Amino acid sequence: MNLAKQLAPAQQGNSANELPAAKQLTLVLDRKPPIELAQAAQAAPKKKHRTSRRKSSAVSGGAALFQRVFTRLGCDGRPPRFRVEFYPYASLVLTIRRREDVVYVRFSDLLQRAPLAVLEGAAALLLSRVYRRKAPRALVDPYLNYARSNRTRSRISRMRRGRVRLASTGPRGRHFDLEKMFSELNEKYFAGKLQRPHIGWSTRSWRRQFGCYDPGPNQILLNRRMDHPGVPQVAVEYVLYHEMLHVKHPTRRSGCSLVSHSPEFRAEEKLFTNFARARRILDHLAR
Ligand SMILES: [Zn+2]
Repeated sequence: MNLAKQLAPAQQGNSANELPAAKQLTLVLDRKPPIELAQAAQAAPKKKHRTSRRKSSAVSGGAALFQRVFTRLGCDGRPPRFRVEFYPYASLVLTIRRREDVVYVRFSDLLQRAPLAVLEGAAALLLSRVYRRKAPRALVDPYLNYARSNRTRSRISRMRRGRVRLASTGPRGRHFDLEKMFSELNEKYFAGKLQRPHIGWSTRSWRRQFGCYDPGPNQILLNRRMDHPGVPQVAVEYVLYHEMLHVKHPTRRSGCSLVSHSPEFRAEEKLFTNFARARRILDHLAR
């Protein structure tokens, strides 16, 4: 999503320097592009899940740290009061919002043991966006490097396994049984050797995607829209087969990004019987 658009809410404040109340800015750094601003609405569903009952904990020295970075960035005026806490998000998330005179900041608790420079970098990223100051690379880089490191990524992956709710309705739909389908495809195309991930139908219809594989919780979900008598079985089989290839050809990230589809992946995809027909059906369904 367009970065400038996402930043727009921060510009509607009373003064150019102020984070508008009730708006939340969320930075998610475990996705590509590596810095993505998500609106509060997008971050919100996570609150409904188990994480909401998990406890947050204060970042010791957090307020002083933010005041320091506030000054270093050359923000005008007196710094606001900061409340800084670690929060058990399901990914590497930073959020900042203002309520009356207090600015509330939440760091992913993945940062709990991170060095001070990393926390300062996180603070600089948040404050530079909210107050529209340019943060010096030297200040921000420790955080970006930390966020992008393989070690952090594998920690996120491990953590998501425990934290991300498997929001699915199970493999048996009204018309298609994905578990049975998985076994048949596994025999036919993978010599029965592919380990079965969690499989289910999405709880809600998706507009853009037929299926997705998330390596964190090790789960394939198919769009429930496809569980319909009007959808030919071959199309559902093809989507499941495609997601099974994602299990076989792992990438660090979930879903159906272009990078996940290597030439080997694409070649193997074409081995699907009725490949062309299935693609035509999906093209038709996508309209
Ligand atoms: Zn894909």
